[in-house]
This record gives sequence, structure tokens and C-alpha cells, in this order.
Amino acid sequence: MITNFNYIDENFKRIRENVDSSIAKYRKSDDVVRIMAVTKTVQPEAVNHAINLGIDLLGENRVQEYLSKKDIYYKSAEIDFIGRLQTNKVKYIINDMSLIHSVDSLKLAQEIDRLAFKNSKIQNVLVEVNIAGEESKAGIKPELLKDFLLEVSHLENIRVKGLMTLPPANSGEKFLAKMQDLYIDISQEKIHNISMTILSMGTSNDYMQAIKYGSNLVRIGTALFGARVYS
Ligand SMILES: *Cc1c(COP(=O)(O)O)cnc(C)c1O
Repeated sequence: MITNFNYIDENFKRIRENVDSSIAKYRKSDDVVRIMAVTKTVQPEAVNHAINLGIDLLGENRVQEYLSKKDIYYKSAEIDFIGRLQTNKVKYIINDMSLIHSVDSLKLAQEIDRLAFKNSKIQNVLVEVNIAGEESKAGIKPELLKDFLLEVSHLENIRVKGLMTLPPANSGEKFLAKMQDLYIDISQEKIHNISMTILSMGTSNDYMQAIKYGSNLVRIGTALFGARVYS
């Protein structure tokens, strides 16, 4: 087990600089882009090291893994769920999550709504978009997004705050641009309970390009913590 986490300092500094220079290059000077630390396979002590450096948002992919690590995490960071979420597992995480990025079916949205009501909370969510229409991937296809949002808008204990996507690897900028267009189009629709304030897009390989296309939340794993080791 690694106990010296100083390599994270350099990584975080570089990411921060890259985010700032991308904002300077492509965006309004007062635009804010949040950096999420994606924690899958990362030991909780390394995550805490990142929190000490200034990380204030964690992204969790797996319910079981999260439950095994949550008590060790420092409490100062917000936690979002970004992975595929089975309806029967929502109950284990709903009270801890600021935002669930991966809503991709009405069944899941209904279960989140039901449990949010039961726990007297309003759950903020993003709708995951399958921007390239890949058969193997989660997410709502772009042409079905508006109808999906209209259905979700009836659920009173959910608030849709924006969109999330994970474009195909090495696909260049075209899907980032397509996602930005979709986000802007949907922003112009006035749908009850739906606001477009968060565009969650960009990972270690493409966060600077994602910022170019309007992302305001980048989800960084390997560029911060190093290559993932699966046990
Ligand atoms: C793993 C993961 C990331 C981070 O990917 P990296 O390439 O390690 O930066 C971002 N978003 C989601 C949904 C992920 O599962």
C-alpha cells in the first residue's frame, strides 16, 4: 500500500493550471469550472490527500466501493455519483449525494424521486446523454432528450440541473461540440423543474477541449491519481 501521496501535488497543480489557461483561452474570465476528483480504485487516504490540496468535489462510480470508503473520507468535500446506478442501490447513497450525474432512465428517476420524498429531500440530478448514440453505452440519445426531460419534470422531488456525457475515446472535438449545441438548445426550452446550470463533460484525456465547448465540471481520475490498479 502506498503511503506517500506527494505525486498528487504536482498532478493537481498541473490540472489547475491547465483548467485556468483553458478558461483564459476559451471562456469568459469569470467563468468557473469545477474540478471533480474521480475516486474509483483509489485508496481513501490518497483521496484525503487531494482534499487537503483543495479538492472539494468527489465522483463515485460504484456503490459498494463508496460504502467501504465513505467513513474514511474527510467530510469537507461534496460527493456526487457518476457511475451506472441500479435502481435497487439508490437507497444506499441517496442521503450522501449532492448530485447524481447518471440519470438515464425513467425507472431510475422515479426511484430517486420516491426515495428523495421519503427522506424529505430534493435530489439534484443530471441527465446522462449518449452523445454519440453508441449501442453499448448508457445515456439518453440526443433525439429523445427533450421528451425524457418532459417526463422527469413531473417528479417533484427531483431537480434536473444539467447534462452529463462521456464521449467515445479519441473521438476528437465533434461530440464535445454536439453536446454543447444540445445543452444550449435545451437551455432555451422552458421546462418545469429543469434548469441547465451544469454541463459535466471532460475527463483526464479531454478536459481542456471540454472547457472549450462549455463544460463547467470536469471529472478527473488518472491525471490526478495516476493509472488505476484493479484488484
Ligand atoms: C472513470 C471516470 C472518469 C474519469 O476518467 P479518467 O480518464 O480517469 O480521468 C470520469 N467520468 C466517469 C463517468 C468515469 O467513470
